[in-house]
Amino acid sequence: MVQDSVGRLVDERVLPIIQKCFEEHRFPQELVPELAALGLLGSSIHGYGCAGLNAIAYGLICQQLERGDSGIRSFVSVQSSLCMYPIDAFGSEQQKQRYLPRMARGELIGCFGLTEPHGGSDPANMKTHAQRRGSDWVINGAKMWITNGSIAGLALVWARTEQGIRGFLIEKGTPGFSASPIERKFSLRASVTAALFLDNVLVPEQNVLPGVIGLKGPLACLTQARYGISWGVIGAAQACLAQLLSYTSERSLFGRSLAHNQAIQIRLAQMARQITSAQLLALQLGRLKEAGRMSPAQVSLAKWNNCRMALDIARDARDMLGGSGISAEYVPIRHMLNLESVITYEGTETIHQLTLGRELTGVNAF
Ligand SMILES: Cc1cc2nc3c(=O)[nH]c(=O)nc-3n(C[C@H](O)[C@H](O)[C@H](O)COP(=O)(O)OP(=O)(O)OC[C@H]3O[C@@H](n4cnc5c(N)ncnc54)[C@H](O)[C@@H]3O)c2cc1C
Repeated sequence: MVQDSVGRLVDERVLPIIQKCFEEHRFPQELVPELAALGLLGSSIHGYGCAGLNAIAYGLICQQLERGDSGIRSFVSVQSSLCMYPIDAFGSEQQKQRYLPRMARGELIGCFGLTEPHGGSDPANMKTHAQRRGSDWVINGAKMWITNGSIAGLALVWARTEQGIRGFLIEKGTPGFSASPIERKFSLRASVTAALFLDNVLVPEQNVLPGVIGLKGPLACLTQARYGISWGVIGAAQACLAQLLSYTSERSLFGRSLAHNQAIQIRLAQMARQITSAQLLALQLGRLKEAGRMSPAQVSLAKWNNCRMALDIARDARDMLGGSGISAEYVPIRHMLNLESVITYEGTETIHQLTLGRELTGVNAF
């Protein structure tokens, strides 16, 4: 039921506008109330106006949304896994009451500020810092590549303190805090990406997440979001395959449809094999997550495998469309360009490979 209702939303509301949004470099913010009305924001959270769905349902939501566009899925991932999840898992009761119901209704958009300009792969080398001033904190620093950054009413910013890394909930309009959109992207053009600047930002103690200290806080959020990505990218690959099935049956070359060629059928079959394997990997990961047995290394394996699978399929689909493959009339090149971001954010492919390598050998190669 979840898959079908999100699929309908994608068919009826996302697909008719998304190519134009991509061309105009515009996030379709008008869809946020509809995403909220279906219960897609913070869907795994119980209470606070959230749907309380299980991990597989969240995966299916991501898969359907990314069949539309990675930018829409990114919005929901950041809102749900990177902002609402940590408030629910590490926040005070007052923070949960104040933010989660409005975020579930889509009235308050969140963003997650971890990456810094000098290098996202090594978050332990964080420069953004917070110092005590009486009962408040003063934060200075900068964050880079932050999804939803300039449309967010609430930023979860991770900063170094004397105690270790902590999460600060900073509301839009707080003096010294600003966000500047990153223009001229070739990827995720239907998504907002921004730089955040923190210049002596005063944050009260009540806006610090009390339940976690250290890098394990942001890493726990990333594990949630990477799980969703492992499902999401399958949707992008499905969209490319669906386009190819109609294109290769309609296009006639050498006196017969393209689909008659063994070489074409083998490529389509390869795609079906890769998509099905990725789905089974995501499904098993979801079952482990539900049972409380999902490990970060397993998530790295799935994020790496499924992003690589989707990007390879999008590139191959682009090629199989010939010249049409570079046209905005067809979906593969948009998915291909988007997936260049998805394979990079939330840990690059190399970072996930090294995580797996460490798990296998016990040796840290970072
Ligand atoms: C569209 C978009 C949206 C994003 N949204 C968010 C967001 O909402 N919040 C957030 O905090 N961040 C976000 N990010 C940031 C993203 O997580 C980082 O871009 C990513 O972690 C990589 O960091 P970096 O860009 O600084 O690259 P770097 O860390 O500088 O890496 C550069 C290259 O070096 C490689 N590399 C790094 N270390 C090693 C090593 N030890 N051995 C071998 N190779 C290595 C990497 O794999 C990569 O190829 C987003 C990024 C993009 C593009």
